[in-house]
Amino acid sequence: MNRPPPAVRAVLFDRDGTLVEDVPYNGDPAQVRPVDGARDAVRLLRARGVRTGVVTNQSGVARGLVSAADVRRVNARVDALLGPFDVWAVCPHGPGEGCPCRKPRPGLILTAAARLAVEPAAVVVIGDIGADVEAARRAGAHGVLVPTPVTRPEETAAAPHVAPDLATAVRAALAGPPWPAAPAAGGDRRENTPPATVPGCRHTGPAHAVPGPQQADPAHAAPPHADPQHPDPAHPGPQHPDPAHAYADPAHAGREAGHGRRPR
Ligand SMILES: [Mg+2]
Ligand SMILES: [Zn+2]
Repeated sequence: MNRPPPAVRAVLFDRDGTLVEDVPYNGDPAQVRPVDGARDAVRLLRARGVRTGVVTNQSGVARGLVSAADVRRVNARVDALLGPFDVWAVCPHGPGEGCPCRKPRPGLILTAAARLAVEPAAVVVIGDIGADVEAARRAGAHGVLVPTPVTRPEETAAAPHVAPDLATAVRAALAGPPWPAAPAAGGDRRENTPPATVPGCRHTGPAHAVPGPQQADPAHAAPPHADPQHPDPAHPGPQHPDPAHAYADPAHAGREAGHGRRPR
């Protein structure tokens, strides 16, 4: 019963403050600046055959601070500079909406993993705040925290694994997570629900996200619940107190990266 942990097959990155400099609720592609080492880190993963993705909270959409179209353009810029990533999963909801995807909830990670047909235990999530690694834990994946000035000391202290920069984080991921995957497979607090039950949080890959054929463990190959392309032409903008509208545009949504600090 003690299966050895699976080799890492996918690495999912937080966007703001992790892959690119954190510009609060950025809706301008021109302001996208990759973090030092991001390009090489992602390239190394691709060279090793590890799938890559982005899992990002973008509550700026729900807050009415950026439009879905703006976010789409920003994500496309990130993809142009660092991608293409194999999958994007975006939560456009606000903190009060109770959606299943906003980190630290596990929805985005479960969804991305399903779309890649990779079991969560073979996924490493790299982010800059506690919500990122907590979401990984709840999904049954492995979290690596790469602290920035906005990272709270207690978050760093609580992280299962901490790396000083992206290059180090990626090397750790490739070496195989020596840290435990979620608090035990017995699943105390794991919220390992099939993404198919996640209603509002769509994901996609910006136009390209091609998951590819890799059928991992059939048991985990649950069909992605989202339709990859989910355009969302109909949602001009956020400001919907109504959660049903919040997920207008899947693959993109403004920022937010879970910086609970900023929008307080
Ligand atoms: Mg972040
Ligand atoms: Zn959400």
